[in-house]
Amino acid sequence: MAEVPQQCARTGEPTPEIVPSSLVDAPLKVPCRLLMGPGPGNAHPRVLAAQTLPLLGHMHPPFFAIMDEIQDGLRYLFQTASKHVLLISGTGHAGMEAAIANMLEPGETIVVGNNGIWGQRVCDLAARYGGNVVSLDKEAGGTLSLKEIQDSLDQHKPAILFLCQGESSTGAHQSLAGVADACDAQGTLLIVDTVCSLGAVPFYGDAWGVDCMYSGSQKVISAPPGAAPFMLSDLGLKKLLNRKTKVASYNFDLNLIGDYWGWFGKRSYHHTGMVSTWYGMREALALISAEGLPSLWERHRRLHLVLLKGLAALGLEPFVKSDSDRLVSVNTIKVPEGVDWAAVVKNAMDKYNVEIAGGLGPTAGRVWRVGLLGYNAKLENVELVITAFRDGLKQQNFLK
Ligand SMILES: *Cc1c(COP(=O)(O)O)cnc(C)c1O
Repeated sequence: MAEVPQQCARTGEPTPEIVPSSLVDAPLKVPCRLLMGPGPGNAHPRVLAAQTLPLLGHMHPPFFAIMDEIQDGLRYLFQTASKHVLLISGTGHAGMEAAIANMLEPGETIVVGNNGIWGQRVCDLAARYGGNVVSLDKEAGGTLSLKEIQDSLDQHKPAILFLCQGESSTGAHQSLAGVADACDAQGTLLIVDTVCSLGAVPFYGDAWGVDCMYSGSQKVISAPPGAAPFMLSDLGLKKLLNRKTKVASYNFDLNLIGDYWGWFGKRSYHHTGMVSTWYGMREALALISAEGLPSLWERHRRLHLVLLKGLAALGLEPFVKSDSDRLVSVNTIKVPEGVDWAAVVKNAMDKYNVEIAGGLGPTAGRVWRVGLLGYNAKLENVELVITAFRDGLKQQNFLK
């Protein structure tokens, strides 16, 4: 233990007794892994490089210019002309909490499309914010029909409808077509979770009448975790501005965060913008704009089909019954009778350095999950995943 310099030692204060044990003064090293689970995926090298640029102050004009570029990129990605877009500082869950905290007032009714773990979590969150929660249940792997949604809206006349576009715990892809008209008929606002679907499948914020949506940085967007893309429509903003009660969360109050992102014609400090994380997001959004959404969507769809075909040749089946309900970014594969799913996952990691995930929530123990996320959605990666499955299944004599 080094001596405490005289000028730091104040009377009555102890000297440090807890010393670093394992933290040695050498640059951090981590193993290089191919992340083919439901997220995070590997970030694009240009995104990682952008994150190493020198810090700017969070209120410096050059940083505001970067925030403007991010908002431009988000409008393209969301297919919206809304001025009210930003990044929530935090992961997908922070986006989820911001959506509920701002759009729902205590005592209001929210109908939650609930076909997996994300619907369950929104039910939990909405109840914490004082909502009257109606869970619109569907079996894992299924999606809600427009008729089921309409009937629930007619019956409950909720202030809010929540749907998850890509249910990454089950691999189901919820259609949003026609939902806005059903919502309009009841004066209901539509919130959509797009954390693992945005960028992989078509999403039209304006044309589909979405009032509030959130996503995540570490899935298809191919940046590290820590930024949640977020949008309010004009109606969503109106709801925020006309609330009878204060937003219960200070950290997620969009009146304040929006004022940092220039929603109200000025810039006020709410919290320190996540400077390096947002550099990375600027780069990720530039990459998406350059590739173009149609190409991005097609790349994911094509590789999803290659993956399913390759796994079918090994005797594996998709968990989601109807092919139109299958999410292309997070693929759920049934674990056959008698196969140890965890051994296949472990073998893939130990031998191939590739991450394949097991199930989550309602699919735990029943499926594997394979992510095709943005930068990682490449043919050679899909082939490696298939090889890892073949090897793992052979070891268990499921394959000869
Ligand atoms: C991953 C995911 C989330 C949660 O995101 P975090 O970044 O882990 O907080 C929410 N919804 C969906 C659909 C997801 O796939």
